[in-house]
Amino acid sequence: MNSFSYVRAADVASALREGGAAGSRYLGAGTNLLDLMKGGVENAERLVDITRLPLAAIAELPDGGLRLGACASNSDAANHPLVRTRYPLLSQALLAGASPQLRNMATVGGNLLQRTRCGYFYDTAFSACNKRHPGSGCAALEGFNRMHAILGASDQCIAVHPSDMAVALAALEAVVRVRGAKGERAIALRDFHRLPGDTPQRDTNLVPGELITAVDLPAQRFAKSYYLKVRDRASYAFALVSVAAALQMDGNRIREARIALGGVAHKPWRATQAEALLAGSALDPASLRRAAAAAVEGAKPYRYNAFKVELAQRAIVRALETAGAVT
Ligand SMILES: Cc1cc2nc3c(=O)[nH]c(=O)nc-3n(C[C@H](O)[C@H](O)[C@H](O)COP(=O)(O)OP(=O)(O)OC[C@H]3O[C@@H](n4cnc5c(N)ncnc54)[C@H](O)[C@@H]3O)c2cc1C
Repeated sequence: MNSFSYVRAADVASALREGGAAGSRYLGAGTNLLDLMKGGVENAERLVDITRLPLAAIAELPDGGLRLGACASNSDAANHPLVRTRYPLLSQALLAGASPQLRNMATVGGNLLQRTRCGYFYDTAFSACNKRHPGSGCAALEGFNRMHAILGASDQCIAVHPSDMAVALAALEAVVRVRGAKGERAIALRDFHRLPGDTPQRDTNLVPGELITAVDLPAQRFAKSYYLKVRDRASYAFALVSVAAALQMDGNRIREARIALGGVAHKPWRATQAEALLAGSALDPASLRRAAAAAVEGAKPYRYNAFKVELAQRAIVRALETAGAVT
């Protein structure tokens, strides 16, 4: 681990000042960043601790939405009465992640920015990783790529985004609020994370020094929802495939559907084609299977992860059926 300096930010203005300096990184709970620094994957020169900033509140918005402060813990977000009652999809996704101890520490902002769990990214013994060293290659392409992407990857990187929370936020059409040297801006979650293309070293569209201050959830329109996570162990494992499904029904017909997938792409993957097919259709097996097939259209599996193409479709059908049964 490289040596680094540490400063605890007293307020947002000083956090921005310190965080904007070259070599600085914001420190949430450190459950991802410090592991990466210990492994020599990240080499921050200065850590700006933001955990004492007044950014941990969870509060209703005037339009009926909900604001999650960036420093709220994953446990506090998952267990907040308004999250549990209005956004059970988000609560389920958060509780499907990590372990209770990690969730008690991990922050909303840090969760969004956690880095991929691709083994070739984490293990510096592998010299080829375009995410770690742009231009060095991608060991996963010909390696053990069972956990890797089937959608939206490039010949530069086939890593997947690991967050469960972000998948639910994509389905809920959340907005990320950030502050930086040029002021405040709001980024729709669908535009927050990036596909790898030829710049896989960039996970998001944040500019250096920008601080996430909150995540806003729009007023809830989907009475029925479900988060399904398929993984190798029942807990404490990242998703092979996950599905955040939300439905607004009109009698027995689907008026509107939202589907986001985790474990399949470099970012939470909105299945908009599947959503369009479901609008106005019945919640029957044939319609669900047709939508699921549309969701994986264009999928490109690699040597060890072809199973994900079928798994994703079955998971979509199961998640929609389970959401549909919510009373
Ligand atoms: C063993 C283990 C199992 C796990 N399993 C899962 C799982 O199944 N599902 C899942 O979703 N997650 C899982 N996680 C990941 C865990 O959820 C993340 O480590 C955690 O959410 C990161 O939050 P943090 O506050 O510790 O972030 P940190 O490690 O402090 O920061 C992560 C990154 O975010 C940046 N950052 C933090 N806050 C801000 C901010 N407000 N503005 C700008 N930048 C910021 C940091 O600079 C850093 O780059 C697991 C982690 C471990 C260690």
